[in-house]
Amino acid sequence: CGIIGIVGSAPVQDRLVDGLKRMEYRGYDSAGVCTVDHGQLIRRRAEGKLANLVRVLAEDPAPGTTGIAHTRWATHGKPNTKNAHPHATGEVALVHNGIIENFKSLREELEARGRVFESETDTEVVAHLISEQVENGASPEDAVKVVLPRLRGAFALAVAFRQHPELLIGARLGSPLVVGYGEGETYLGSDAIALAPLTQRISYLDEGDWVVITSTGARIFDKDNNPVEREIVASGVTS
Ligand code: GLU
Repeated sequence: CGIIGIVGSAPVQDRLVDGLKRMEYRGYDSAGVCTVDHGQLIRRRAEGKLANLVRVLAEDPAPGTTGIAHTRWATHGKPNTKNAHPHATGEVALVHNGIIENFKSLREELEARGRVFESETDTEVVAHLISEQVENGASPEDAVKVVLPRLRGAFALAVAFRQHPELLIGARLGSPLVVGYGEGETYLGSDAIALAPLTQRISYLDEGDWVVITSTGARIFDKDNNPVEREIVASGVTS
């Protein structure tokens, strides 16, 4: 339902939660964050209100200057902690808005290859597909490029990579995603409102676009993987 991602120059945990708070008005049933730090994906999730996630983080902080976060509105799988995003496996953690229509056949295919699932969501197949590519030696960019054409349905995605704290990858098809440009930081959000305290400078991704963000900016590609420029505009939303 709500997505925020930060490749930052300072710790991101609290800023991720703040971004989620700004999207609370959309409604949600659970929430989670995942940061990337010292070769680890550090994931914290909780059912119910954001206050529950805040409590989990107070006990078990998520250090790091790169991370993703999500408020979930369940479409596939009960609203509980195990089905809350981010979903993670091996090399990858990701958050997703929308529905992966062909998740059943993808899940069967992945399970036949020995992948073990821990949730009932449609989303988790995407984490496995991308992780599989990275485990087989693909770069984050190449992994996402191979997997996106396999997904049917509607999605906005933000993907974090265990061994690449320097970047996040976003993608959108049928569900909005914006890129935010900061000072030595770059952001992803499903909603300009989530990024309001971080930056006013944003680009709206077009249908089928995907993007690699690093601390110095963004490289955007269209659905045919051609590099494209998307205009930077003022979000018009102030904190
Ligand atoms: N279909 C996904 C799920 O049920 C994402 C739902 C959402 O957009 O929050 O987990």
